[in-house]
Amino acid sequence: MIRNPEKTLGALIDKCSIAQLCYIDKDGFPVTRAMLKPRERHGLREFYFTTNTSSEKVSALRRNPKTSIYFVDRRFFRGVSLAGNAEILEDAATKERIWREGDEQYYSEGVADPDYCVIKVTVKKVRYYSNFKSTDFNIKTQQAEDSMISIEVVLGDITTLGVDAIVNAANCGLLGGGGVDGAIHHAAGKALYEECLKLVEGLPEHRGKTGQAYLTGAGRLPCKFVIHTPGPVYRDGLHGEAELLASSYANSLRRAEEKQCHSIAFPCISTGVYGYPKEEAAQIAVRTVREFRAAALQRVVFCCFSEADAAIYRRVLAKEE
Ligand code: ADP
Repeated sequence: MIRNPEKTLGALIDKCSIAQLCYIDKDGFPVTRAMLKPRERHGLREFYFTTNTSSEKVSALRRNPKTSIYFVDRRFFRGVSLAGNAEILEDAATKERIWREGDEQYYSEGVADPDYCVIKVTVKKVRYYSNFKSTDFNIKTQQAEDSMISIEVVLGDITTLGVDAIVNAANCGLLGGGGVDGAIHHAAGKALYEECLKLVEGLPEHRGKTGQAYLTGAGRLPCKFVIHTPGPVYRDGLHGEAELLASSYANSLRRAEEKQCHSIAFPCISTGVYGYPKEEAAQIAVRTVREFRAAALQRVVFCCFSEADAAIYRRVLAKEE
């Protein structure tokens, strides 16, 4: 579990004396090159490298700017791979800024050498490998914001997770039920039930609404809050199910933000008794989390109760945004 990905991954990157950069050559083959370490990095969003304008990589990146850079910590077998787009910068101001004393050994004409240029990589996605496990991070494109949300897939029982908030796939009665709802109430104990009773008393018709999300304490659970969201019952996909499922995810994230939660775990809402097709539900879950503009939240866990569900999430997460 990484509390502050920016810091942990940044430290790994800063310790590396070289970077590896990939591009696609003119025959369509991927090529990896060792590079001098980045001269400048802005969080995990932007990296600046020096290189020779005449090199094959520069013409390849001009043709196809898609690239990935890789940093490895050989001692602990940890690695960070950052994929994004490369730009070749040749303007005097950038060249001046990135230039360091001693660079004359590579570019004999100095900072104005036409064979000296800067590669700027703007990162879109980050994958961190450590401890036999990969974690994906989303880079937020909002200006002036370096923070990121990490998305993890965990196989296990959501009631055991030590995150700030767990989400309960509840029903509109909000007083417990089967599946994950039953497991949460069972593990949390009477205190949660009593809090839910109070919550329900204050709601119109004493019921929750599909797609809404309601926050309570967590009784005996290791998390701080439980966010109860009734997901839609799947009929045929033509009854607003997708919008309602997206609302369940988005409203749960909002409730967590209101309490300044840093981490939240979701079960596969609506995909049990409520019958939502699993792959489609996972796509909606991932999309909604990726689109969410978080301020406090740093970590989202998709807690899957079966390996088959976890495999679906891994596949959906690996796909291009
Ligand atoms: P719904 O009524 O919204 O379909 P269910 O509880 O029937 O809710 O199922 C939702 C998902 O929760 C299913 O994928 C189920 O396997 C999973 N699940 C059941 N128990 C747990 C648990 N303890 N932790 C995490 N997920 C669970």
